[in-house]
Amino acid sequence: QKAEDKLKSQLGEEHLPKQGFPSEEEYEQKQGCPSEQDQEDLPISPSAEMSLTTHVSSMDDYNSTYRRSIEDPGEFWREISEEFHWETGPKGKFVEHNFDPNVGDVFVRWMPGATTNITYNLLEKNIREKCLGSSTALQWQGDDDVETREVTYDHLKTLVCRAANMLKAKGIRRGDRVMIYMPQTIEQVVAMLACARVGAVHCVVYGGATAEYLADRVKDSKCTAIITADFAGKDGGRQPVKTEVDRALKLCGREHFVRFCVVVRRVGVGDQDTWPKATGSQESSVPWCDGRDYWWQEEMERVDDECEPEWMDAEDPLLILYTSGSTGSPKGVIHTVGGYMMYAATTFKYVFDCGNVTNKVHFCTADLGWVTGQSYVVYGPLLNGVTTVLLEGDPLKANRIVSMVRRYSVTSLYTTPTAIRHMKATSGSEANYKLDTLRVVGTVGEPIATSTWRWYRSTIGGDHCSVVDTYWQTETGGHVMTPLPGATPMKPGSATLPFFGVEPAVLTDDGTEMVGPCEGHLVFKSPWPGMMRGINGKPEKFTSYFQQFPGYYYTGDRCRRDGDGYYRILGRREDRVSIPGAMGQVFNQLDVEATLLQHPDVEDVAVVTTDPTDDTGECHSGGYDNWYIFVTLRQTACLHAQTIFTNLREMLATSLHVFTPPSHIHCASELPRTWSDKVLRRLLRKVVLNDLDLGDFHVVANLKSLPKLFRQCRDMQ
Ligand code: ATP
Ligand code: MG
Repeated sequence: QKAEDKLKSQLGEEHLPKQGFPSEEEYEQKQGCPSEQDQEDLPISPSAEMSLTTHVSSMDDYNSTYRRSIEDPGEFWREISEEFHWETGPKGKFVEHNFDPNVGDVFVRWMPGATTNITYNLLEKNIREKCLGSSTALQWQGDDDVETREVTYDHLKTLVCRAANMLKAKGIRRGDRVMIYMPQTIEQVVAMLACARVGAVHCVVYGGATAEYLADRVKDSKCTAIITADFAGKDGGRQPVKTEVDRALKLCGREHFVRFCVVVRRVGVGDQDTWPKATGSQESSVPWCDGRDYWWQEEMERVDDECEPEWMDAEDPLLILYTSGSTGSPKGVIHTVGGYMMYAATTFKYVFDCGNVTNKVHFCTADLGWVTGQSYVVYGPLLNGVTTVLLEGDPLKANRIVSMVRRYSVTSLYTTPTAIRHMKATSGSEANYKLDTLRVVGTVGEPIATSTWRWYRSTIGGDHCSVVDTYWQTETGGHVMTPLPGATPMKPGSATLPFFGVEPAVLTDDGTEMVGPCEGHLVFKSPWPGMMRGINGKPEKFTSYFQQFPGYYYTGDRCRRDGDGYYRILGRREDRVSIPGAMGQVFNQLDVEATLLQHPDVEDVAVVTTDPTDDTGECHSGGYDNWYIFVTLRQTACLHAQTIFTNLREMLATSLHVFTPPSHIHCASELPRTWSDKVLRRLLRKVVLNDLDLGDFHVVANLKSLPKLFRQCRDMQ
């Protein structure tokens, strides 16, 4: 009765729960014992053995270094900059910024006037100073899991220099933009590094994306050349890639002119020495435009092994990369040579703990068309001189992640909550992988449910690994919130604490900074070296990150800070769903999703509301009567969907005591996802509203799933 009265007074009579109200006894029990949420908030210490070897071995260590990085960021990063090669030193201030558009143009500059080349730092410096020439830099595995290639740092240098000379011979100069659209291969990395060597700006687009997706980016980036491949290995066969480039260029029309395409001959490529000599126009299955298209392998033979690096200003652009497009049209984020280099390398060093133990092998499952691939497949690992594992094709098929960890004795693994949930769903409850080489296991991209986190740590991480739940964005260039292995006590589902030099704050809707435990908008108060310097062609879009809360960089994400100062990311502000609980508390979409994921037959779930949003894009009335669950069931469970839905409603009533049941539970064979594996909640809202105006739908990786979802939802309503 007590709970009921409390609710009535808070919400009004008409909002009485439609089912599952807790009894007084249950209510008292709930007050007395720690809830599951409370228990999850008890930190899990890193293993003592880990702390012996990590760079940062205790919280005291972390706290003192963190304090130093905030009190004097210029000095902190100046010391770190000494770990890199600079051809000439900075001129003027080490760091300058303005985050307040009311004061003047928003800008950030780190080490202006200093010159360097990122490839010199990851090739010459590693080879000469750390004697890593004969160590493996890249370990590649093809889509068929049979083809493999290994490239040492020495060999990588030769390949990069040749490719750089090839680009130069074709007229590419510093500042030119080059699009890279191809499967994940050694050549894809070489192409990126060759651009960086000559000072060209690379723009990698996911090699499986459609021609329309590519065309938009060709036009937006104003690239003058494209590096691509004939085919990609896919499901044991081949998938045309060059065909899509030709289609994309047709779509661009006269509006955009690409001077040349270099085509990597992918099919039949094993070891470099056995590359078949192909002549373009005779290759009937690959569309060809004489005078514009060239074979990579042929051009590589025409050039020298040596190429001096182009010395670039620290603030020159290194790359353009498009965001995932979860909330709208993707933005072409610009990162610079100096700041991005320092930040990708430093976050990698601390977060994947690669300093003090030899034979480091890092496996990140991300595609290079996503910032995670740029920073933590390529630049972070290579700048640190470790071996990075590259995988062509879908990491989710046939338990590949686990078998690759074994095959290459991987020491740090980095993947997404979707991949972890998939491994969990397909592994059986008795799975015990004994992946003894692993020390750090990481997750990125979306909030991770606590049950998924626990499974990851115990089954993949063997209970001894540190789990790093890393929060960051394309715009941040590298991790901004993350535990440090061996130092930070972990909490499942929490990105824990800020990385060095990152100063978070949590704001109310009207921009007031909150202190202590709270929930609100996540912003950053000061710049870090890896943050973006602009949005390609859209200066006003760049300014918009600082407009809602002048003086702060606004992430667009909401977060909760607890009594230990730990941060839990609650998702984007547009995706917010507020669901009242029977005891006066308010749940969000993640609380509900985490609860439902505990059902053994639920593989994936997303909660959305269609309540109107205000002009900040945020939903304020939030889900009181109007919230929907989309659930993907394990295949074997689909026949019992209605029974499972009843179970799910019961779980919500009895475990969470949600006040209003969902308006509907929809069964989805798969949820719409971006190419980087994120649930597209904006499209799920469209599905509920039967609104076919989908906005930029080329970002949807599994577009084919949408018509069925629309049809199902229409039939149900
Ligand atoms: P767009 O900006 O085009 O809408 P996007 O934000 O999905 O797309 P990304 O830069 O790839 O593009 O993703 C960054 C977002 O991913 C973050 O803003 C956050 O919402 C989410 N994210 C990343 N890592 C985590 C994490 N560890 N926990 C929770 N959310 C995360
Ligand atoms: Mg974003």
